Amino acid sequence: MGVLIEKKNGYDVISEDEKVLMEDYARAYIDFMNAAKTERECVDECILLAEAKGFRPYEAGMKLEPGDKVYYNNRGKNIDLAVIGRKPLSDGANIAAAHTDSPRLDLKPNPLYEDTELAYLKTHYYGGVKKYQWVTIPLELHGVIVKADGSKLQVKFGEGDEPKFVITDLLPHLGRRQAEKPMAEAIPAENLNLLIGSVPVTDPEAKARYKQHVMELLNEKYGIVEEDLLSAELETVPAFDAVEIGFDRSLIGAYGHDDRVCAFAEFKALLDMEDVPEKTAVCIFADKEEVGSQGVTGMRSEAFEHFMNDLCKSQGVDVYDCFRNSFCLSADVTAALDPIYAEVFEKYNDARINHGIGIFKYSGARGKSGASDASAETVGYVRRLFNENGVLWQLTEMGKIDEGGGGTVALYMANRNIETIDAGVPVLSMHAPFEVVSKLDCYMTYKGCKAVFEAK
Ligand code: MN
Ligand code: MN
Repeated sequence: MGVLIEKKNGYDVISEDEKVLMEDYARAYIDFMNAAKTERECVDECILLAEAKGFRPYEAGMKLEPGDKVYYNNRGKNIDLAVIGRKPLSDGANIAAAHTDSPRLDLKPNPLYEDTELAYLKTHYYGGVKKYQWVTIPLELHGVIVKADGSKLQVKFGEGDEPKFVITDLLPHLGRRQAEKPMAEAIPAENLNLLIGSVPVTDPEAKARYKQHVMELLNEKYGIVEEDLLSAELETVPAFDAVEIGFDRSLIGAYGHDDRVCAFAEFKALLDMEDVPEKTAVCIFADKEEVGSQGVTGMRSEAFEHFMNDLCKSQGVDVYDCFRNSFCLSADVTAALDPIYAEVFEKYNDARINHGIGIFKYSGARGKSGASDASAETVGYVRRLFNENGVLWQLTEMGKIDEGGGGTVALYMANRNIETIDAGVPVLSMHAPFEVVSKLDCYMTYKGCKAVFEAK
């Protein structure tokens, strides 16, 4: 080993055998992305795949043996999975936490209206979106509708051959003044209205003929009325499939890589563990990260303590002892250095596409505000673990210091007295309706998560 760091592109070091495994992994990830476009769908897909691998729903008081696989479904929007290890939980657990909510446009509480003979649904954006990216692209509506009798309808309006929706934009011919506005103001949030119909009901006396026609169609097909849209969670998501990008097929474009690309990596790593781990391995799909991790399904929720405490109780262990000895990989994406926007990046410290999983000692903004700053010991631990397991990694930051910043669930795990570090896949066009990652980085993140779970 030389005395200097050699930064290497992954394609200069990956073996042909590993390339095959990488392609298999990328295929599985693309399938997952096409099945799950919302946090609820991620939980559903996760349960489907986990049960096929022997995971069972956790029930209070359940007797647990090493090798047992359980999951805890928190309200259909957040899920914790565990494989019980040989060592007692007082020795700590190996945890990986990712989030499965992504930036999107939620429907407003009273969404339906008509204007000038067109029917619309009003939206309220969720998370950090650049609003101009959401106009003139095909969109779908996914979520749940709770009917008057309390029954729940799960919908994917616009999926497959179904009609899609769109938010219109001004034509350039009449967009002179719009073009002069700052980008953040060019498309006001109140203009993000989904176009959903243009045909009136035949009755000329009807009060709202365009709204009514849409509701009649929905009523016919799903048995719902307008008031049902008020007790609903409907998320506007892009109608794009996850696809390979580039003549060399080395990249994957999809909606919601942030942070399903890490969620899938940790989940697949848990599913693929062949031996009973030394320490209990825990995989988390958290909700609400994009808006601050609050609420019953966010990473700040005590639902996680509750689940861990239940596991600990089954061994007569205090959950605080477990946390003190646990390790958590806060698996979240970071910005990949984009040469087109090189001016905001810091080329000595930013993540490169195809250089492997990005480890971030800290996130935050400006003077590390809001950061969970991992210790040298923790970075040293992960460095050793990844080197020993053939995981290609890079130690990164996110952009030039004064350009901005971001956070993850790391601080909420660290606040629980769990040794925590951020690591994940570098992303191009993060938070856009169609983000880009590299297959190699996805695969290395999977390998990294596997190394974490299998650590003694
Ligand atoms: Mn994220
Ligand atoms: Mn994000």
